[in-house]
Amino acid sequence: MNELHVDWIACDGRGLCAELLPELVSVDPWGYPLIADAAVPAHLEEHARRAARLCPRLAISLNAVSPPEPAARPHRTQWTPAGTPARRG
Ligand code: SF4
Repeated sequence: MNELHVDWIACDGRGLCAELLPELVSVDPWGYPLIADAAVPAHLEEHARRAARLCPRLAISLNAVSPPEPAARPHRTQWTPAGTPARRG
């Protein structure tokens, strides 16, 4: 799984990345990219790599991220009928 990352110091805000990858990048009123806040879908990965490769300031990159961990399951507790002391051991 990959996500797009912008180096805001390097970016000059001309918006080429939005032209190359409009499915995931739009521009703000000043021309700086607004990146979709999600993983790059597999069918757009090659387009995302191309946008990163052609950025004139090398300000956009495609970074691998690990998928989110599944939610932890609650601990199983031993059920005891009401009024019965729990067995130990
Ligand atoms: S192409 Fe590169 S420099 Fe131009 S707006 Fe996109 S990230 Fe910034």
